[in-house]
Amino acid sequence: MALSGIQIYKLLPQTNCKECGFPTCLAFAMKLAAKQVELSLCPTVSEEAKAQLSEAAAPPVRPITLKSNGYEVLSGNEVALFRHEKRFFSPTGLFLRVYDDDPVEEIKRKVTAVANYTVDYVGIDLKWDGIAVQARGGDFVAAVTAVRAITHLPLILIGEAEALKPALATLDEGKLLLAFAAANNWQAMAELAKTRPAALAVQAETIDEMVELTEKVKAAGVDDIVICPAQRGLHGTLIANSTARRMALKQTFRALGYPILNIAGDAPTPEMETILAAQAIGKYGSFIILDHFAPETAYPLLVLRQNIYTDPQKPIQVQPGLYEINNPGPDDPVLVTTNFSITYFSVKNEVESAGLPAWLLVTESEGMSVLTAWAAGKFDAERIAKDVKRFNVADKVSHKRLVLPGHTAVLSGEVEVELPGWEVKVGPREAVDVPKFMKQVLV
Ligand code: SF4
Repeated sequence: MALSGIQIYKLLPQTNCKECGFPTCLAFAMKLAAKQVELSLCPTVSEEAKAQLSEAAAPPVRPITLKSNGYEVLSGNEVALFRHEKRFFSPTGLFLRVYDDDPVEEIKRKVTAVANYTVDYVGIDLKWDGIAVQARGGDFVAAVTAVRAITHLPLILIGEAEALKPALATLDEGKLLLAFAAANNWQAMAELAKTRPAALAVQAETIDEMVELTEKVKAAGVDDIVICPAQRGLHGTLIANSTARRMALKQTFRALGYPILNIAGDAPTPEMETILAAQAIGKYGSFIILDHFAPETAYPLLVLRQNIYTDPQKPIQVQPGLYEINNPGPDDPVLVTTNFSITYFSVKNEVESAGLPAWLLVTESEGMSVLTAWAAGKFDAERIAKDVKRFNVADKVSHKRLVLPGHTAVLSGEVEVELPGWEVKVGPREAVDVPKFMKQVLV
């Protein structure tokens, strides 16, 4: 359980030397209790106190990173139950499952599709994260070898210890996740995990059984544990994931303070599999195993994950500047917008796909959308004029005309005052209407 600020204070040197950057040991203790500072800031804490405090200061959800030849999947290290309280830190890892009794060519085909998939979303490359290989009575080593012939994405290996062991001997890279340690096999799985060392997924029907198992596995010497609720339906998974995460964060209950693995691939249909995966992305799934991969479901899952794991206090931004769309010339129009990524890409994509050349002036507006930036005073005449000069717009075009977003028509007069000699036109409110406006009004 977590220690209170006073309990932590009693373990500190109590000299108030200020070397940690705080005026007193008590102030430092309070920050430590709130998990806002690292214990290492105090250079004089005793080894005995360090041992006790390190446990108290450890993140409530243990961070575990699966690694393989430069690829990484982060998990754990979460501190908030709801995204708006702070942010979520470790995006859910999506893994495609193949089976060792699948034909090798089938395994390679599936894995190639995942390994080659990348999609651009507001300037960010979104990708699948790894491959799970499950023993089902086939040639497990051959299946793992087939996967590794295609990609070095991180692996989850599923099966009994005797099936997994020969395959482990063929893999010399990174950190794997082994699954599953259950009531009947946890000793053998824990021993196998310790040989790498690998992370170990523990599977149980109830929270009580899960607690019992994680404590046994930890006592056996495995620190990197992942919990996998045995429930497979929407309701059961939601309850199990939420209970575990709530107890980890609100009670600092260490036996459940681990990343969570969900098996969406066990769903009865591909559609339900996608729904289960979407729920797990939203509610505390650290790793999700799916049996089907298709771009039309991969993309929405990745975008959902991107949106949930973006810091809500830091909008996705693009660099302010003067961007070229379809090789514009000096006579082509200058469109003005903010540097919120989605706003930028909305305008750019509409104009680009219409085949129209234009200059797009992206102003410094702290990553806010047009209306929000205008309301917050981050998209005003002064800033627009400043960026027109900063990015030398006048040197690129033969005219002196700007097009403002329709929502900010009120700024047009002020911009003309800030930029004497320039004419301001008011464009449409929605990006989708920009091409039509360019064809009908800017002629
Ligand atoms: S550095 Fe350590 S001893 Fe000094 S004030 Fe901070 S907590 Fe106290």
